[in-house]
Amino acid sequence: MKISPDVFMLEITRGKFMYQDRACYSMVYAVREPDGITLIDTGFPGFAYGILEELRTLGQHRLPLKQILLTHADLDHMGNAAWLQEKTGCPVWISMKEKVYVTGERSRLPEKQQMCRDCGLQIPRLQFYPPDRRIGEFEILDTPGHSAGHVCILYHGILFGGDLFSITDGTLQGANPQWSEDMETARRSLESLKPYKFTMLCPAHGLPDRRRDYL
Ligand SMILES: [Zn+2]
Repeated sequence: MKISPDVFMLEITRGKFMYQDRACYSMVYAVREPDGITLIDTGFPGFAYGILEELRTLGQHRLPLKQILLTHADLDHMGNAAWLQEKTGCPVWISMKEKVYVTGERSRLPEKQQMCRDCGLQIPRLQFYPPDRRIGEFEILDTPGHSAGHVCILYHGILFGGDLFSITDGTLQGANPQWSEDMETARRSLESLKPYKFTMLCPAHGLPDRRRDYL
């Protein structure tokens, strides 16, 4: 799905990940710039090859995968990052505050932890967002609550929301309480987005939608 001339929601991760007889999905977005493609999140494991295939269709030139920007360290966002990094050598960026889940200093919520174990989450080599919260044209917005170091990512008026909100049939909902660590902090994070200039919202769960008066 084309969101703007150079921003795409990949089709490959739209569905089909089965976990305990449930179909799960988590969207992956690609931003095409002259020097390569940036991925926002990487979806559930098992889609890495398909992601690379789909990226090749996005430009006439075989643009390299320049980098991966993660909103947080959950299975359905980091799922293919290690494989993609191994194949392309691209850097994988994440908030320093998500490191604790990767090192085991802090546990994810029990159900998430179980999913990571069951699915064998592979951890990429991580780089941490710099203090100025900018990676090229991407602005990194700290939006904790769903997890300790969750971020949203702003690019040319398009907001990539990770798990801070979802959108169903044009209705925005805040972070899912079942999967979020601190709902009050997540609510404040959602509020904190209001002053930013963006016209499109791209959630990990649900389809992209234009900004409405809900935010
Ligand atoms: Zn999550």
